[in-house]
Amino acid sequence: MSTLQSIDQVQEEILSRLSALPPTDVPLEVALHRTIATDVHARDPIPPFDNTAMDGFGLRSADTASATTDAPTELKVTGAVEAGAETLPTVLAGCAVRIYTGAPIPPGCDCIVPWEKTARFDETTVVLDAPVAARACVRPHSSDLEKGAVALSAGTRLTPAALGLLATVGYPVVSVGPRLRVAVHSSGNELVPIDSALSPGKIRNSNLTSICARLEQWGATPLARPVLRDTPEAVRAGLRATLTLRPDAIVTTGGVSAGDLDFIREVARELGDDVQIRKVNMKPGKPLVDGLIAGIPFFGLPGNPAACLVSFEIFVRPALAKLEGRRDAFAPRRVARLAHAFDTPKIDRRQFLRGTAHFDFERQHYRVHLPSAQGSHQMSSFAEANCLVEIDVQSGRLAEDAAVTIHLLGDIQ
Ligand code: AMP
Ligand code: MG
Repeated sequence: MSTLQSIDQVQEEILSRLSALPPTDVPLEVALHRTIATDVHARDPIPPFDNTAMDGFGLRSADTASATTDAPTELKVTGAVEAGAETLPTVLAGCAVRIYTGAPIPPGCDCIVPWEKTARFDETTVVLDAPVAARACVRPHSSDLEKGAVALSAGTRLTPAALGLLATVGYPVVSVGPRLRVAVHSSGNELVPIDSALSPGKIRNSNLTSICARLEQWGATPLARPVLRDTPEAVRAGLRATLTLRPDAIVTTGGVSAGDLDFIREVARELGDDVQIRKVNMKPGKPLVDGLIAGIPFFGLPGNPAACLVSFEIFVRPALAKLEGRRDAFAPRRVARLAHAFDTPKIDRRQFLRGTAHFDFERQHYRVHLPSAQGSHQMSSFAEANCLVEIDVQSGRLAEDAAVTIHLLGDIQ
């Protein structure tokens, strides 16, 4: 009988404990990649006034109705309108004004003819050999956004263009989901700082570096915390010290397997509420501890360096997204084809392999390469990966060109 829990169910249980944290107001200068918390309405119509899309002449369309090459229409140039102009000359019948892109359409004028579409012009006259349609080259007010219309909806991630739009509609400050402060502890007696030479039995604490970097990439603020040594007292004291910082979430790595020295599980249970010690139907990332400690979401990820990053993607990422009110809870998925045959173990767990995918324009699909080093302790293959390749249980040998689902490990989606 299997005691493994399905990934979907675990995700659901984790999310059901959490709700979005209150948003914060930030100036646009620091709002890139943040997620807006409420709909933003245009304060003004955009464009705010009818204006010209081209440099040229503003005139009355009716004056040009009979213009042909053989019988061109000549108009008198009576003024000029530059972008930013506050007082506008009226365009009378038989007249035209020079006009520059972005300038308001002056009274009397109902169309613009670009310089290059005139037959000729000089300081005082412009000659047209074809009619100009009413509204030609006029950008009407409100044609981008009506006043009061939703410019951006809650949950939108702020790209440079979205920030430009907020600036356009007059929001120098915007309400966004909070930048999460996430405490990160590694655990294990074998860990030494990354600037240490290795002594027998020791390894460098790489998970702290990779998980903190992943948090930064996500847009959170990692709080790198001291290593939790393998005693219940040390784990307890370390977590208690972290609780005093009131982080928005706590992530630990290691110490969650069934071993004698894996104390994260029992200490999390002792300090927390609804702390679940799980075996999840996935590889890597079978062991997982999650719950709330003093109301703070807690994630005890496995210690193996590849496993903790995969568990982060599958379980921590959606949780952080919910806390922040973000839509990108899950990595974007694509269907890809294997670039080569690959042997996977026939096991009862869903596997997430590290892969490198690229879109093959000739074949019109993603092709994915799988490095052979897929052990959960092997980081060399992860370092170059750009996706996780999902393999169904009991797959065994996968043929070249077999279709697989990939989860893109990109930065900004
Ligand atoms: P554990 O889950 O604590 O039994 O750890 C599983 C494996 O991951 C062991 O081989 C650990 O040495 C290794 N490991 C645990 N924590 C780290 C870490 N912070 N950096 C690198 N390797 C780790
Ligand atoms: Mg350990």
